[in-house]
Amino acid sequence: MKEIFLLKLGEIVLKGANRRQFEDRLRQNIRRRMKMYGNFDIYIMQSTVYVEPMDDMADVEGAWEACHAIFGVVSICRCRPCEKNIDRIYETAEAYLGDDLDMAKSFKVESKRSDKAFPMNSMEISREIGGRLADAHPTCAVDVRKPEYIVYVEVRDLAAYVHGPAEPGAGGLPTGVGGRAMCLLSGGIDSPVAAYMMAKRGVEVECVHFFSYPYTSQLARNKVMELARLVTRYCGRMTVNVVSFTKIQEAIRDNCPEEYFTLIMRRFMMEISQRIALPDGCGALITGENLGQVASQTMQAMAVTGAVVDIPIFMPLVGMDKEEIVTIARKIGTLDTSILPYEDCCTVFTPKHPRTKPVLSQVVEAEASLDRQMLIEEALASVEKITVKYDDTPYL
Ligand code: ATP
Ligand code: MG
Repeated sequence: MKEIFLLKLGEIVLKGANRRQFEDRLRQNIRRRMKMYGNFDIYIMQSTVYVEPMDDMADVEGAWEACHAIFGVVSICRCRPCEKNIDRIYETAEAYLGDDLDMAKSFKVESKRSDKAFPMNSMEISREIGGRLADAHPTCAVDVRKPEYIVYVEVRDLAAYVHGPAEPGAGGLPTGVGGRAMCLLSGGIDSPVAAYMMAKRGVEVECVHFFSYPYTSQLARNKVMELARLVTRYCGRMTVNVVSFTKIQEAIRDNCPEEYFTLIMRRFMMEISQRIALPDGCGALITGENLGQVASQTMQAMAVTGAVVDIPIFMPLVGMDKEEIVTIARKIGTLDTSILPYEDCCTVFTPKHPRTKPVLSQVVEAEASLDRQMLIEEALASVEKITVKYDDTPYL
C-alpha cells in the first residue's frame, strides 16, 4: 500500500463541543493546502488526520513539506498502511524501516491498538514485531529504556500503520477558528512574525500595507508582497490591502510639528486599517510593535496611536527580545527578505527628536490643522486588494 501521512491533532482535541467545528476547519485547511501537490484524500478519525495520495501523480515530498506548516497539528509522520495481520505488519515494518534499523544501535517497538477486535494486545504486538525485527537486524539491539530508534505500530479502524519517529507539527490552532484580523504589514522583521503568531492561534489573517510612492520604491512594495507570500505558507491564502499613503505623509510633513510626525502617521495607519478591517469581517488589528524598540513603541506612544481605534490591537511581539523575534523570522523563512535594504514609509520623514512620552491632547492638537477625515477617505479610495497565495510566482 502507498505511503500516507498521519497528522496528530493538538489542543483542538480538548475543545469539547467545538471539536467538530475545529476538525472540519482543519480538514478544510489541509485540503486547500494539499491541492497544489495533487489529489489527496483527507479524513479525520480518532484525533488523527489521514492524508492519503490518491494516485501516482501526487507530489508526495512537496505535500510532506507543507504538512510541517499546518496549524492545529502537534506531530506528523509518514507511515505505511497494511492489512491488520501480524505477518503483514512485520513484513511492512521490515520493508519500510529495515534500513533505518541497520543504521541504529538499538531500538524498540511501540504499539497502539485502537481496534480492540485485533486478537493481540499492544504488548503482544510489540513483543512479536520487536522479536522478529531483532532477528533480522543482529547489529541493532532491543533496548526498551533508551532506544535510539522507535518503530511504531498502530492498529486502527481501517488498517494497521507502521512508522518511525514522528516530527513536530506547527502547533497552535487551525487557522480560522479564532476569527479574522487585519495585520499591518511593513517590510520589516517584526510584522510578518506577528502575522505568523496570530495565525498560529487560529486567526485568519488579512494584511494592510501603506505605500508611499515615490518616496518608497516599487521594490519596497514587492518586498512586502513577497513577505506576505512567505507567510501564506503558514496561514493560507490572504488578501493584502495596499494603501497609497503619500498624500497623508506629505500633509503631515507640511502641517505638523516634526516631533509628532511618526505618531500622527501611525494614528492614520491605525484608523485606516480599522476602516478596511471592519467591512472585511476583521475583529482586531495586529502589529509587530515591541515595547521599547523605537521611540513610537513606548507605552505612552502606543496609547496615543491606539486611541483612534476601538477594536483590540494584538501585539504578539510586545514582550519579546529582538533576538527571539529574529529566531522566529529565520524559522518561518521571512528573515532574509525582511533584511533586504528597501526603505519603508516609516523611515521617509523621521523626526530627529521624536516624542517618546506623548500626551494625547497635545498630539490631537498637533494634527488639528489636517482634514483627517478627508485624507482618510481619499486613502480608502486608493486601496488595492491583492490576493496572495503560496504558489504565486515570487514577487522579488
Ligand atoms: P517592523 O519590523 O514590523 O517594520 P518596526 O520595528 O520597524 O516593525 P515600526 O516601523 O515602528 O516598527 O512599525 C511598527 C508596526 O507598525 C509594524 O510592526 C507594523 O505592524 C506597522 N507598520 C509600520 N509601517 C507600516 C507600513 N508601511 N504598512 C503597514 N504597517 C506598517
Ligand atoms: Mg518597520
